[in-house]
Amino acid sequence: MVTTLIDQADVREQHLRQTKLFVPDLVFFEPQALDYPLGEELFRRYKREGIPIKMTTSHNQVRGIPGETDLEKYRNAKRTLVVGVRKTLTFEQSKPSAEYAIPLATGCAGHCHYCYLNTNVGTKPYIRVYVNIEEILERVAQYIREREPEITRFEAACTSDPVGIEHITGNLKRAIEFMADQPNGRLRFVTKFHHVDPLLDARHNKHTRFRFSVNADYVIKHFEPGTSSFRERLEAAGKVAAAGYPLGFIIAPLYWFDGWEEGYTHLLETLDRQLGPEARQDLTFELIQHRFTKIAKSLILERYPKTKLRMEESERKIKWGKYGKAKYVYPDVQAFALKSHLEAEIQRFFPEARIEYFT
Ligand code: SF4
Repeated sequence: MVTTLIDQADVREQHLRQTKLFVPDLVFFEPQALDYPLGEELFRRYKREGIPIKMTTSHNQVRGIPGETDLEKYRNAKRTLVVGVRKTLTFEQSKPSAEYAIPLATGCAGHCHYCYLNTNVGTKPYIRVYVNIEEILERVAQYIREREPEITRFEAACTSDPVGIEHITGNLKRAIEFMADQPNGRLRFVTKFHHVDPLLDARHNKHTRFRFSVNADYVIKHFEPGTSSFRERLEAAGKVAAAGYPLGFIIAPLYWFDGWEEGYTHLLETLDRQLGPEARQDLTFELIQHRFTKIAKSLILERYPKTKLRMEESERKIKWGKYGKAKYVYPDVQAFALKSHLEAEIQRFFPEARIEYFT
């Protein structure tokens, strides 16, 4: 076990030298994390690298993230890592893309203005990784057994971008290889990062769908700082397809801007030009229109005060979500226009692909 962890650390260190990966400015450890080999390994690694380390009784008690203003604290929190133990092993549902959300981490170092984390984990923007992956995977196996003979799908990107932080724990690769041995289990996740190399040799048995989040140039340029460029994502998608993974694209958020029709057509034309036959063999698209909640809107305006992101309640329609939470989506006429245009263009460029849903 120890040898494997050290080998993986070497691979990750080589990888660190080649690309710009997230390196935290400050790391908190929950004491129980040190009872696990991965927790110990991370402690030694960050100590060796001279990154400041603090202990915290629990992630809810994290104190001392530097910053004079809330904005500075937010930016610094996004550069802070908390290494802990996942105690809640009851998984959330993850409709429509999967049955359950598998908790591998929370938070992300990216700065997408519209990010769903503003709603999900808005008040805790630090990155939290879990070291008890074996316990999490045991719970996955139980959920699969409960639904047999149905297939059970697990979404690994509900509370973070797991590819952007894979070099820290290697947990995504463990989950992929675990799922490879589950006849009735499937894994899926989505990323805006191109750091896919450590996952290319994972034994996946085609049980993991690797998706990339893509968008029209306008949206990437104005709203997605801190993520990999479209070109980098596209190159990474080519590598992932060559490694035999089922591939997918999530176009989200579908956003209404001047020239949106040309913008989305151009996106699909570019994908069409770049994707080889292996990428098209088992290709899916998921379409998610832009939405916001009132809480997310106020956090976004605080954190990205110059954002061009339009969030006018009067221009939207209310959609009631879980626990009676109101989300603001596009009115039916606009939503229908987005849906029809995207579906028609996907059909034109990728007639072999499957559109899983529009929401
Ligand atoms: Fe949020 Fe994904 Fe952007 Fe990270 S990459 S900030 S998780 S939308």
